[in-house]
Amino acid sequence: MKYSELGFWLKKSAEWVDGYYKRLKNKPVRPALSPGEFKALLPSSPPQSGEPIADIIADFERIVPDAMTHWQHPRFFAYFPANAAPASILAESFVNAMGAQAMLWQTSPAATEMEQVMVDWLRQALGLREGFTGTIHDTATTATFCAVLTMRERALNFKGLTEGTCGAPRLRIYASTQTHSSVDKSVRLSGIGQDNLIKIEVDQNLSMDATLLRCQIEADLAQGYIPAGVILCIGGTSIGASDNIAEIIAVSKEFNLYTHVDAAWAGSAMICPEFRQYWQGVDDADSIIFNAHKWLGAQFDCSVQFLADPTLQINTLGLRPAYLQTLDAEEVTNFNEWTVPLGRRFRALKLWFVMRAEGLDGLQDMIRNHVDWAQKLSYKFAQDSDYKVLTNCPFGLFTFQYCPNGQDTNEATKNLLNAINEDGRTYLTQTLVDEQFVIRVSVGPIACLEDDVMSVYKICKELQN
Ligand SMILES: *Cc1c(COP(=O)(O)O)cnc(C)c1O
Repeated sequence: MKYSELGFWLKKSAEWVDGYYKRLKNKPVRPALSPGEFKALLPSSPPQSGEPIADIIADFERIVPDAMTHWQHPRFFAYFPANAAPASILAESFVNAMGAQAMLWQTSPAATEMEQVMVDWLRQALGLREGFTGTIHDTATTATFCAVLTMRERALNFKGLTEGTCGAPRLRIYASTQTHSSVDKSVRLSGIGQDNLIKIEVDQNLSMDATLLRCQIEADLAQGYIPAGVILCIGGTSIGASDNIAEIIAVSKEFNLYTHVDAAWAGSAMICPEFRQYWQGVDDADSIIFNAHKWLGAQFDCSVQFLADPTLQINTLGLRPAYLQTLDAEEVTNFNEWTVPLGRRFRALKLWFVMRAEGLDGLQDMIRNHVDWAQKLSYKFAQDSDYKVLTNCPFGLFTFQYCPNGQDTNEATKNLLNAINEDGRTYLTQTLVDEQFVIRVSVGPIACLEDDVMSVYKICKELQN
């Protein structure tokens, strides 16, 4: 295929995109597919000679879309959303066309400078104080890993980078029992080790217990450990738990610990001033991560990290071998020095498109609708004696059980979830609350309407036995 043919086929692809979004709401959210079934449709070795692009596209249309889980479906209420706003899809197509690699300022000046401006637009949009700068990573996991490495090096006076962690004193990292597994992964990979991640129990508000945190830090110090950092959580993945940020940061500061706030999902809600009470005190954090690719609509991947003082992270992660040095090095930002990979995508463009196309008003309306509708839906379940709502978080995530008379609640709930997902009109996932199996509903697809949300209750009533 030649570059000269690209325009023609891109028009075809635009038509396909249009049709895809028109058909989407009538498709099952998840394909009825067994593992291995799709693989069997693909030839097991590559073609020796090139094939016409028309054939490749025809095969794509025939086999791929129906073997996908449709994250942009208006009734996708599983996990958390991974929204792709229309303006974001468009922006990504421009980025794709340029095939840019934004590792250095020189290798993509507009990408670097737009990233700086978009991080600042978002800082303002979320109501964060002046002074935070930041960068855009692929995922929250990468950002949390960067933060944990920074905690490690700050605690070891930047000696771990050269001497390794083998003979170093044992560090300690603290997080609540509600934090995401990316925290465990980061602590494992950083060389600090899982045993040195201390999970502090939460209080009745699902916030890390500040008294327990202080006791644990004091006990660790007495035993010769070096406390290095605290990872706080806003809108935890399981049931949306949030730490009392002001209280936990205050304890952390007493012991000079580095703080990282994981608001991967719920950070988007902070675009509405009324939700900012839930992360009050966040301006004192050292690092904050939120995934603009979850709720906000700047499609995957787009994880925005705010940093109070980027120097610590740059000193941890930055490296300038001769072949990466540029003559302008002192005047410019080379974002590869803020993260793990060298190569970087141009992720700021979709933020620019989405924030301009929707405006803060449009984004706020979307979030407020989702939260309202989630509350209405959970109220429906709460009113029905066949069901029990177990948790309800302020950002549009709740969990419920099916508890018909005379049946085991865990079994009945599992059976109902299986029936829902086999049915395909909506897609829900599960979690455990106090060892009990519950169904999670997370309202967030851009295209969903109130009816789509309320249909979850109707579908449950239809499928309950
Ligand atoms: C989704 C999520 C993550 C992980 O996000 P990735 O970007 O997929 O790494 C981490 N923490 C929380 C609270 C999340 O909701």
